[in-house]
Amino acid sequence: MKIYVAQNSGFCFGVKRALRKTFEAVKQKNRKIFTYGPLIHNDQVINKLKESGVNSVETIDDAKDSTLIIRSHGIPLDIYDKAKLNNIEIIDATCPFVRRVQEIAKEYYNNGYKIVIVGNPKHPEVIGINGWCDNTAYIIEEYNQINKIDTTQKMCVVAQTTITLEKWNSIVNELSKKVKELREFNTICLATKDRQEACAEIAKKVDLMIVIGGYHSSNTQKLFEISKNYCNNSIHIETADELPIELLDKCEKVGITAGASTPDWIINDVVKKIENKGGD
Ligand code: SF4
Repeated sequence: MKIYVAQNSGFCFGVKRALRKTFEAVKQKNRKIFTYGPLIHNDQVINKLKESGVNSVETIDDAKDSTLIIRSHGIPLDIYDKAKLNNIEIIDATCPFVRRVQEIAKEYYNNGYKIVIVGNPKHPEVIGINGWCDNTAYIIEEYNQINKIDTTQKMCVVAQTTITLEKWNSIVNELSKKVKELREFNTICLATKDRQEACAEIAKKVDLMIVIGGYHSSNTQKLFEISKNYCNNSIHIETADELPIELLDKCEKVGITAGASTPDWIINDVVKKIENKGGD
C-alpha cells in the first residue's frame, strides 16, 4: 500500500506565526495570558496551550489587566481601543494576509464604497474584517444572495482568505454583471490555494483519501469537500485514533492531507498507523 502525503498540508505560515508568538509570550510574561477566542481550530493544540496556562476568552471584559493574543483570524478594529481601556496588552498575531483584507475594507469604506465580503458570516475572520468597515459589509456565501442586495452603489469586493476560487469566481462574475463600479480584490490566501490544489491532485489518484483537521476548521472542511469531488472514498478525522483501520484493507493507494491548523505530530501519527498496516 502506497501512502501519498499532500505537499502543502498542515500548519500554514499564519498559524505557525501565531503559535510562535504565543509560546514566546509564555516564556517572557509574568502576566496572565489569554487568546481572543481559541488560537486555532484544533482541540489537541488547544489542550497543549491550556497545559502552558494559556486559556481563551470570548469577550474583552474577561481579559482585564492581562496579555491578550489576537489569533491569525484578526479582530474588529474597535476591540483594540477596548483593550487599551481595560489595561490589556495586545500581542497581535493577525496573519499579514488577513491584515491586508482588513486594510482594503477600511480604505474603500472610507472612500465611500460598499464593502462586500465573500465568505461565511459566522467565521471570526469575516466578523473581524466587517469590523474594519463599521460592520456595514454585505456578506455573501452563495451567488444567488446577490439578488437580495442593493447593487446600485459603488462596491469593493474582498474574499475570506480560505474560500475556494470557484466560489470567488461565481460570485464576482455575478456581481460584475450588476454593479457599475466594482473594485475586486481576490484575497484568497496562496497557502489555501496551494493546499486545495495539492489535495485535489492526490485525491484523483488514490483509493482512500484521509483529510485530517479540526471538525470546526473551515479550511479543513473545504479540503474534505474538494477531496470528495475526486475520491468517493474520503474521510475526515481529527486524530489517528479515529482512523477506521479496516478501511485500509482493500486500498492500494492512500492519500493524506491536513488543514492549516493541524500540527505535524498528528499527521505523523496517522502515517505511522497506516505504515503499521503495511503502508509505505
Ligand atoms: S490560511 Fe493563509 S491567511 Fe489564513 S492564517 Fe494561514 S497563511 Fe494566513
